[in-house]
Formats: sequence, C-alpha cells, structure tokens
Amino acid sequence: MSVIIEPFKIKTVEAIPFTTLEQRCLLLREAHYNLFLLPSSAITFDFLTDSGTAAMSDVQWAAMMRADESYAGSKSYWRFEKVVRELTGYTHIIPTHQGRAAERILFSCLLRQGQHVPNNNHFDTTRANIEFQGGLADDLVVAESQDPRSSYPFKGNLDLERLENYLTENADRVALGMQTITNNTGGGQPASLANIRGAAEVYHRHGVPFFLDACRFAENAYMIQQREPGQSNRSAREIAQEVFSLADGCTMSGKKDGIVNMGGFIACNDSLLARDARNLLILTEGFPTYGGQAARDLEAFAVGLGEVLDPRYLEYRMASTKYLLEGLNAIGIPTMQPAGGHAVYVDAKEFLPHVPPEQFPGQSMAVAMYLEGGVRACEIGSVMFGKPTDDGGFVPSELELVRIAIPRRRYTQSHIDYVLEMCARIVDRKEGIGGMEMTERPPFLPHFTAKFAPIDRWIEPLFGSASPEETPRAPG
Ligand SMILES: *Cc1c(COP(=O)(O)O)cnc(C)c1O
Repeated sequence: MSVIIEPFKIKTVEAIPFTTLEQRCLLLREAHYNLFLLPSSAITFDFLTDSGTAAMSDVQWAAMMRADESYAGSKSYWRFEKVVRELTGYTHIIPTHQGRAAERILFSCLLRQGQHVPNNNHFDTTRANIEFQGGLADDLVVAESQDPRSSYPFKGNLDLERLENYLTENADRVALGMQTITNNTGGGQPASLANIRGAAEVYHRHGVPFFLDACRFAENAYMIQQREPGQSNRSAREIAQEVFSLADGCTMSGKKDGIVNMGGFIACNDSLLARDARNLLILTEGFPTYGGQAARDLEAFAVGLGEVLDPRYLEYRMASTKYLLEGLNAIGIPTMQPAGGHAVYVDAKEFLPHVPPEQFPGQSMAVAMYLEGGVRACEIGSVMFGKPTDDGGFVPSELELVRIAIPRRRYTQSHIDYVLEMCARIVDRKEGIGGMEMTERPPFLPHFTAKFAPIDRWIEPLFGSASPEETPRAPG
C-alpha cells in the first residue's frame, strides 16, 4: 500500500467554521492583520500550533472516568508514574501543569545567577525561564541547521566540537546541559542517537548534568529509526528508552507527544534535586501526586504516552507532514528541508522575493493564506525575531518562515489537500502579495499582539475581485 491512512476511525466530530472572503477581509482588518487576534470561530483550518490541540482517543477519554481525584496519593498518580518510569527509566517523576512549569522549577533548583545552559536550540519558554533566573541560554546547534535547503537528516544535532570547546572554557560556569528533541526552534528536526550519545559523553566528562527537553521524544525516536544507519530494526519505544537512559533527566510538555491538551512533568534520578523540585512544586503547582493537573489529566496523559509510540500512529504522523511538504514543493512553494516531525516551514523569503524583510514577507504569506482559505499558520521571522535599532533602522531575522504546525490526529488527508489547493491559488497570484507595515510594536514577544497594515493597500485589488462565496455558517 502506498497510501498511508489515518490509523483511526471517527467517533465524535466537531464542525469547522466556514467564512466568505468578504468576512475574512473584515475579520482580518479588525484583528489588525495579526492572526493571533482572530477568534477561532473565524478559522476553518488552524495550523497555529501542534501544542495542546490533539484529538484524544476513546481509550484516553475512558481512562479519565476512572480517575481518582484524591488530593494526596491518588491511584491515578501511581499509574502515571509507572508509565513514565517504564518509558524513561528515571527514578523521580514530578507532574506539572505544562512544560514551562517543569522548566521553571528545574532552573530554579539548578541555576545560579550568571550561569550558562547550552542546548541545540533553546525553545522560547526555555530561554525565557533561564534568563528569568539570571542565567544565559546558549545555542550550539550544527551549522546545517541554518540552511533551509540542506536536507541533512539530523538538523537537531548539537555541534559536538563546539560543545567540547565551550565546556573546556566554561565548564565551571555551566549549570546543566540540554538537548531539545525534536528541535522545535530549528524546524522540528531530529537529533541522531549517535549525537545524543556524544552529547551525553561530553557533558558527563565535564561533570555537567544532562537534561533532555523531551516534548517530541516519540517523533525524534521514529526519525532515528527511519534515518539512522543500524536503527531500522528497533522499535521507536526501544530507541526512546535508550535516548532517555543517556541523560540524567528531562522536562516534558504533554501537550506535544503526550497527546493531551494540558500537562507536563520533570523526571530525574538525583534525589536531592527531586526533593528541591517537589518543595517548589508545592508552592506553585500543587501536591506532588498531582502537580497542577487533575487526576483525569494524568490518566489521559499516561495513555497518550503509550499511543504516541504505536508504529502505525508514527508512520501516519510523519507521512502526513511529508505529504504536505512535498505537495507544497510540487506547486512551487519552497519549504525548509527535509520534512520534520510536527510542522512544515514555508520559506517566505524565497517565495516572495519582491517583499523585503523589513516588510515581513512571512506575515504577508500568513495573511494571504488566511484570506485565501481561512487557514491560520504562524509567522516565524522578522515579526518574532527582527530588532529595531536606536537610529530608526531594523535588523531582520535570518530566516523568514511561516510555520504550518499539524495538530495530532485532528485533520485528515482531504483537509491537507484543501490546504494544497488553496496554496496553489496563492502561487498564481503571488505577484499581487505585498508587504506589511508594523503599526504598533509591543516591547516583548511582539508576534502575539503587534498590529499591522498592508503596504499600499495590496489586499484590496488582490481579493476584492474574487467572487463572494456562499456563507454556510457565519462566525460568532
Ligand atoms: C512546547 C514546548 C515547551 C513548553 O511547553 P508548554 O507545555 O507549552 O509550556 C518547551 N520546549 C519545547 C521544545 C516545546 O515545544
């Protein structure tokens, strides 16, 4: 069989909203051309993030019913702990309400003012939590990761030579070392088993504890199985277990490979660290047998951690990302190569060469996708990372990307085909897509609340002539 089908059938459905072009133009203007400010009722297909947007299985919903909502010593905690311990091998399993709470507690325990934390690429909440503790977050990813066209299979690798030199110079100022699997900031790209083994060896030789940011451990394990010589005969579970065994602990967001809508944990072997972490947990998350989650969340999470390693699920998951990537490339939309785990990244700098970086080509592309088909994706370029200078200039981001993140088990192949058809229409009209002006820039994390306007009113001629569609359902 060459068709890779969704390995599930549908038991509950949720209607998706449809809008007309006219409505989308109005809604977008009201939202100041920032897709974060749109109501979800105005969005037909939402590819903003894969975080917390998964569809849960019948088994997960059933598990929620047997949850034991005891304040202390809940049976649900022991079930959760057993699943996480069997998967990771770590001694201490500490639930948190999501990944960033695990990060905050870990760094509060291990990090002192002025200390460094190396990683392939720090995810934005990880970096923010390190900096909040007065630490420095350093990125030591391999050089191949910077080239969107390189199809190097393990762009999530740490540059081990740089790491060695870095630790030789700084070992006494490094609180802990990390590796993010898969590398979300670098495009959902995996790290190889050989590289994680190498990282563990270098960190440990320098006496630095090694923690994984394990949010997408199953997608990383599957890509090791598919891409790394000598790994094809092992199961994703066996590979994941070996990866966890190389580190001293991990932080995890269940909203990714836990296939749940909320949840996270810290796991580690160090008893003193676990004691400190549990003491902090009680202050802000809750008692250590629930840690910011309801017992029913722990139950669903425990089941999700098993389902995510099902070979049929992983095959379908990775095939659907690749299908979208290859479909976009076939119609002339360049993307970062190769296909990663959870998302496809459109290279807007290359696709819209007539829009200069200071006019936010990624934002233009995201706006065009919403207007054309009610699809929401996320700019990852100069809106997020560009920096205005004191003399009124602007330093753009190195890359201008639009991330199409795929929620787990939510959309079918026909939904993806719709996205491809809609993108083909954008290709036909791309000369008419203009730049965006940022009319209001908030001081922090500008992408969430910045306001924009289309330069030279390019949206009017491009979409004003299109015939209005029927309105099956108005957003509300
Ligand atoms: C999502 C994510 C986090 C933070 O997890 P939340 O549950 O959103 O707090 C940390 N690291 C990586 C790599 C992530 O993708």
